[in-house]
Amino acid sequence: MTGSDETVVPISAIEHHEYCPRQCALILVDGLWEENPHTIAGGRAHRRVDSGASRRERGRLVLRAIPLWSESLGLSGRADTVELEPDGRVTPVEHKSGVRHGRTADLQLCAEALCLEEMLKVEISEGYIWYGAWRRRWPVAIDEELRRSTLAAIAAIRSLLVGDVLPAAPADERCRTCQLEPHCLPDVVTAPGRITSYVEEEVLGCVT
Ligand code: SF4
Repeated sequence: MTGSDETVVPISAIEHHEYCPRQCALILVDGLWEENPHTIAGGRAHRRVDSGASRRERGRLVLRAIPLWSESLGLSGRADTVELEPDGRVTPVEHKSGVRHGRTADLQLCAEALCLEEMLKVEISEGYIWYGAWRRRWPVAIDEELRRSTLAAIAAIRSLLVGDVLPAAPADERCRTCQLEPHCLPDVVTAPGRITSYVEEEVLGCVT
C-alpha cells in the first residue's frame, strides 16, 4: 500500500458507514460521539464479552477480545471471540446485543475473517454473529460476494478518511435512532434556507 492507501481503517467503522456514511465521517474525521440507548446496550454487551476469560469449550479453544490487523488491507480492530478447532479451523464470532438488521454485521465479521486469514495464514469459510436479544448465533458464509462487498466498504471508508468532503445527510428514518442527530442537524442542513434561519435563531439569538 502507498500514499493515502496507507490510511488504516478501523473495522468498527464499517458498521457506522453502512448505517450512514455521514455518521461515519462525523465520528472518524470530526471525532464526534454521543451515547444513546442503542450504543449503551451495545457497549455493555461488548464489555461482558471482553471481560470473559479465554477457555476451552467442547474441545475447541475460545479466545476473547483478540486484536486484529491486516497489513495488506490497512485494517485494524478487535474480534469479540475467535474459536480455534482441533482440526485447525478458525471461526470468528461477532457479538451484537439486539436482533439482526440487514447484513451490516456480516461485513464487519468478514473484515475480521480477512485479518485472521492474513495473521494466521488460514482460510476461513464461515463465521457467526451472536444476537443477544435472540440468544442464538447466526451463521455467515465468508464467500466471494461478501468479501467483495467488504473490500468495497473498506475502500469507501478510506476515501472518507483521506477526503475533505462531509457526505450529505440522508435525513430519513435513520436519523431518529442516530446518536449524532444533535450534532448533524439533518433537518437544518437539508432544508433550503434553514441554515440561515437556524444561525439567526439558535446561534446569534443566544449571543445578542
Ligand atoms: S442524523 Fe441522520 S444524516 Fe446525520 S449522521 Fe445520523 S443518520 Fe446520518
